[in-house]
Amino acid sequence: MSVVDLRSDTVSRPTPGMRAAMAEAPVGDDVYGEDPTVIALEQRVAALLGHEAGVFVPSGSLGNQLGIRLLVAPGKELICDSLAHVARAELGAAAVFSGITFRTWKASRGRLDIDAIRELITPDAGPYLVSTAALQVENTHNFGGGTVQPAPQVSAVQDLARSNGLGLHLDGARLWNAHIATGTPLAELAGGFDTVSVCLSKGLGAPVGSVLVSSADRISEARVWRKRYGAGMRQVGILAAAGLYALDHHLTRLADDHARARRIAEALGADPADVDTNIVVLNVPDAAAIATHAAAQDVRVSALGPRFLRLVTHLDVDDDGVEQAIRVLRPLIPAR
Ligand SMILES: *Cc1c(COP(=O)(O)O)cnc(C)c1O
Repeated sequence: MSVVDLRSDTVSRPTPGMRAAMAEAPVGDDVYGEDPTVIALEQRVAALLGHEAGVFVPSGSLGNQLGIRLLVAPGKELICDSLAHVARAELGAAAVFSGITFRTWKASRGRLDIDAIRELITPDAGPYLVSTAALQVENTHNFGGGTVQPAPQVSAVQDLARSNGLGLHLDGARLWNAHIATGTPLAELAGGFDTVSVCLSKGLGAPVGSVLVSSADRISEARVWRKRYGAGMRQVGILAAAGLYALDHHLTRLADDHARARRIAEALGADPADVDTNIVVLNVPDAAAIATHAAAQDVRVSALGPRFLRLVTHLDVDDDGVEQAIRVLRPLIPAR
């Protein structure tokens, strides 16, 4: 019996076809702007998302960090929800690198809460309070459980940002999943934001890589900061090729991951209506103990809080893997 790894969609390994594409990729020195495969990926992602330009970066965290540093001056604040990846899982990078502070709203399942955001923002706070410079949206929402942000709420946040002169960043690490789950074009999901970061290394199954898209001017500035942070890369078309391959071969199949996540939720007594995409969150009495017992039976899941168990479907989990996971987890999860 092989191991079924549901800890994250980052654990998938590149397929033979992807590895072949990487091996054959034409490359050049990307710091000189001479890697044709990187250029092709940046242009393709920018076009897909309806933005002028893109920059290839090693991680989604760096994509987010470059995006928000372009929108928020040191000493100003970014408003996001308390479970946002930028606030919770980037190890304080915005404070350490960019002097950005956060205030957060408490979100149910990671959803946008317009009234809460409206109450938080202080665009021109003068010399007494921190001035708000930008808002950020995460779609889909990771710690919220793969939640797709409802379109009317996204529009309302965009109106709020515009009418208050605030920047707007989209953490679209899994925007691909929102696109496949809703059928909404990517350019529509990414439109109305100043900067958008997307990951190639989650459900799309590339080994490395994210792209930040924005206006041509902002992306030129992002290239400066990328190099300054030490992330200027050389013959990196070898990695960009994996991203291009993923867009050709692994985008529409995300629907399979979504169906498998719903199957898991159903079988483990969670509400499948809460599963928008490829992430299942289970509220359990002792998440760590369940993760340990499951791992001993070759099923790996993430305990991300005392009661918070996260299961993520991806390229390397097929129907047999799902059934194996259900067999192991069912006796460990209290009936609900
Ligand atoms: C994974 C993820 C990122 C980026 O993570 P890296 O590990 O830095 O690539 C950013 N935002 C969200 C919502 C994520 O799930």
